[in-house]
Amino acid sequence: MILFVLRTGSNSSTLREKLKSTSASFRFLNLYGKEVAVAWPDQEVENVKDESVEVVVKTKKSYVLAGNEWKKDPTIVKVRDVEIGGNKVVVAAGPCAVENEEQTLTVAKAVKKAGASLLRGGAFKPRTSPYSFQGLGEEGLKILRKASEETGLPVVSEILDSKDIEEFKRYADMVQIGARNSQNFTLLREVGKLGKPVLLKRGLGNTVEELLQSAEYILMEGNGSVVLCERGIRTFERSTRFTLDLGGMVAGKLMSHLPFCADPSHPAGKRELVHSLALASVAAGADMLLIEVHPRPEVALSDSEQQLTPDSFHLLMERIRALSHALGRSA
Ligand code: PEP
Ligand code: MN
Repeated sequence: MILFVLRTGSNSSTLREKLKSTSASFRFLNLYGKEVAVAWPDQEVENVKDESVEVVVKTKKSYVLAGNEWKKDPTIVKVRDVEIGGNKVVVAAGPCAVENEEQTLTVAKAVKKAGASLLRGGAFKPRTSPYSFQGLGEEGLKILRKASEETGLPVVSEILDSKDIEEFKRYADMVQIGARNSQNFTLLREVGKLGKPVLLKRGLGNTVEELLQSAEYILMEGNGSVVLCERGIRTFERSTRFTLDLGGMVAGKLMSHLPFCADPSHPAGKRELVHSLALASVAAGADMLLIEVHPRPEVALSDSEQQLTPDSFHLLMERIRALSHALGRSA
């Protein structure tokens, strides 16, 4: 694959004509304030030259836009006024599922007070069993919006189906693609077109390279606001729910300019493990954390075992701040 980065303000029409005259596939898009063109396969276009082109990146990698061969500086993803990928460790917290207004408002106020920057809650839930609580759907998104208005916290929520895109456009500030949809390529393209920041989780059976290729689908639509998320993978280990692959996150950060989030809650599966995994994630360089908090975890309708109480989350935030400070960062 070849990436052509165009000179700012240049006219791309002659490059377009030259690419059209080959049998290559190509796509022009705007990303991070630059006009770029991706073309493939290489052998069809390797001799194409044009004065509008500033840099040519020829790569064997299948994720050129998400990769850092062309973009060396780390990408900062903005969710309203929250910046992910800078010096501050951004914490998103909230219930696994929005269950009702009171539960969501209670938890939103508690996580705001403790120092979280984003409210995360599920309205459409991807449950393994069809008999489990499936979420409140659009009603859940409206509750999140209300909680956002009351606390000022921007809202992150998971989309399951592109038929709901309009609701997410209206109510969400950041759209989560869950582990189970990490390779739903139709949904990735749709969310790319939506243009809102995306929290893209790694599939439980996917490699880091596959995660970057999933990100590529979103970037290819001209949406560069993608945060990658390590949420644990399936291994033979049974003492945790999933294996939090911090090595994969560290490697992924070297392969891409995109920021990384770590979700310690889902791999932990039990709340006793969440603090340690969250702190380990910060030590490993996570730009963002996603932590599940419920006012009464013992009666939660989903992921009851792993959600923290507001008090425990408050203590975790103190620990995250202390560690971030020691690392020359803030939280
Ligand atoms: C979630 O974030 O609540 C969730 C369902 O996560 P995952 O897709 O990582 O399982
Ligand atoms: Mn959950």
